[in-house]
Amino acid sequence: AEPPVLARADGATRRFGAHTAVDDMSLDVRAGEIVGLIGANGAGKTTFLRMLIGLERPDAGTTELFDGPPDNPARGRMGYVPQGLGLFRTITVDQNVEFTRRVYGGRGASLPAALDEVRGSVVNDIGLGRQRQLAFALALSHEPELLVLDEPTSGVDPLARARLWDVIHEQAAAGRGVIVTTHYLQEAEQCSRLALMSRGRLLGVGSVADLTAGTTAVLVRSDAWQEAFAA
Ligand code: ATP
Repeated sequence: AEPPVLARADGATRRFGAHTAVDDMSLDVRAGEIVGLIGANGAGKTTFLRMLIGLERPDAGTTELFDGPPDNPARGRMGYVPQGLGLFRTITVDQNVEFTRRVYGGRGASLPAALDEVRGSVVNDIGLGRQRQLAFALALSHEPELLVLDEPTSGVDPLARARLWDVIHEQAAAGRGVIVTTHYLQEAEQCSRLALMSRGRLLGVGSVADLTAGTTAVLVRSDAWQEAFAA
């Protein structure tokens, strides 16, 4: 049997005024797979992820989490690392951990050893690398079935990127589903499937090879592909 669908979009569309940020997107994420969401800045990746987890309401179409509406109980079964990390920046690392523990009903957050020495520090005063480690630790603390990661490695050095991807692979191997946006080809190559977005639309789903294959329709739009990896 195929692994269960954890998140699903069906024709999801989101408009901001006259601008259609996400246009008729259909995509799902299954347990055990890493879905890479790629596309140029402004392609609609963040808006799509936010619809998928119920932070943004579709103007047309639907999104589902765990076969139901993407509301609070369902959101408790996923971990989200937004662009900008979503930490409380003016309180300490430990206070962020405590907050997360309360939100998830007492479960969670064991901090990586690297964060031990900064437990009492205000988030704004610790380095960006540690902030990122903290955001990941919090997102994983309640053992979510689905991970939603919005450019988790932008601006991160190659070694730290590789480490974060080790975590992503571990999670997928443990049967969790992952959807992750990236601008790095090297990361895209590690995904089970790639979804290429341009101007709010889904141009294709497949491997890097599929999306660059000479005879596919996607090549006709290879400018979008080039754009996607320009960064
Ligand atoms: P990036 O790679 O820069 O994060 P993205 O692919 O995630 O880009 P989105 O952030 O989803 O793209 O933005 C898609 C489009 O929707 C952009 O043109 C953006 O300006 C617009 N947009 C997003 N959120 C809003 C909002 N709240 N109000 C108005 N326009 C918005």
